[in-house]
Amino acid sequence: MKEESLMDVIILGSSGAIPVKERNLPSFAIRLESTQELFIFDCGEDIQRRFIEAGLKLNKPLKIFITHFHGDHVNGLPGLLFRFNLIERTAPLMIFGPRNIFFYLYFHRKIVGLKASYPITIVEIDSEHNKLVFFEGLDSDKAIKEECMEKNLILETKNYFVKYAPVEHSILSYGYSLVEKPRNGKFNPEIALKIGIPKGRLWKKLQDGLEVEYNGTIINPEKEGIVGPKRPGRKVTYSGDTMPCDSLIRLGWDSDLLIHEATYSKKLSSMAIEKKHSTSIDAANDALKMRAKQLVLTHLSSRYQHDASELLNEAREIFPNTILGEDLLKITLK
Ligand SMILES: [Zn+2]
Ligand SMILES: [Zn+2]
Repeated sequence: MKEESLMDVIILGSSGAIPVKERNLPSFAIRLESTQELFIFDCGEDIQRRFIEAGLKLNKPLKIFITHFHGDHVNGLPGLLFRFNLIERTAPLMIFGPRNIFFYLYFHRKIVGLKASYPITIVEIDSEHNKLVFFEGLDSDKAIKEECMEKNLILETKNYFVKYAPVEHSILSYGYSLVEKPRNGKFNPEIALKIGIPKGRLWKKLQDGLEVEYNGTIINPEKEGIVGPKRPGRKVTYSGDTMPCDSLIRLGWDSDLLIHEATYSKKLSSMAIEKKHSTSIDAANDALKMRAKQLVLTHLSSRYQHDASELLNEAREIFPNTILGEDLLKITLK
């Protein structure tokens, strides 16, 4: 693994409800340089086009997270999967979403012949019973296993974990956080050599911050200065569609980046409440409350398609480090 690995966040769609000329329907990607993995949050219609324009690769390990079953967030998913068939994808795919996300795809299998010749696992998050239900492939409608969920954790690997939280929308809707685990401290090979530890098997352990025994002495890599202190991982949170709610604040606590829907401006706050969406001010307040470092506004109503500066300015008064989501905008988290 390289010393400094980047995390890119790329907005693939920033419009809510209907696509407009410069804005596709909601979706964004996270690309982790360290593991070469890709994560997609929501799949607005025509995501394929932005996927390619963003330079994302169709045959890389991918995990997709769907927030809810409003068409603007999910209708791009079958199209993307058809594309994967066309290119004869081989890399594994995991899809997470609310209950019935498997059946949504299963009916595409039955009716329009959607196939998946690559490994595909679909995980339904059952918030009511606090469990995860796993399906494999698209051919059998029988779940292969169920697991109890702990602390809203839906996925964990050596390098990162993903949590979800039910948020407050007109239908069941989830927010998600991707959290990297603390990364190894900076490795100083010259100090290892000075102490006399030869390059090889022991170095790997030292890089991981583990004590090693060498010539009868226990060597603690941090004490000896062979590695620096662990570096905190990065955290990205996505609100999905929601009005302000405590569960989102808890989920997104201390995020490096918050991607938050901002469908309306302050003037239309009564409409935001009625439709259970957020204004840009709500988004800014949420960012402030959860101590996020940066905020991106997305899911903008089509009425702002020619000028969204009102949304941006209102949010910046509360949370200065706010930017407006634009399709293909790339944010690199160091
Ligand atoms: Zn929406
Ligand atoms: Zn919605």
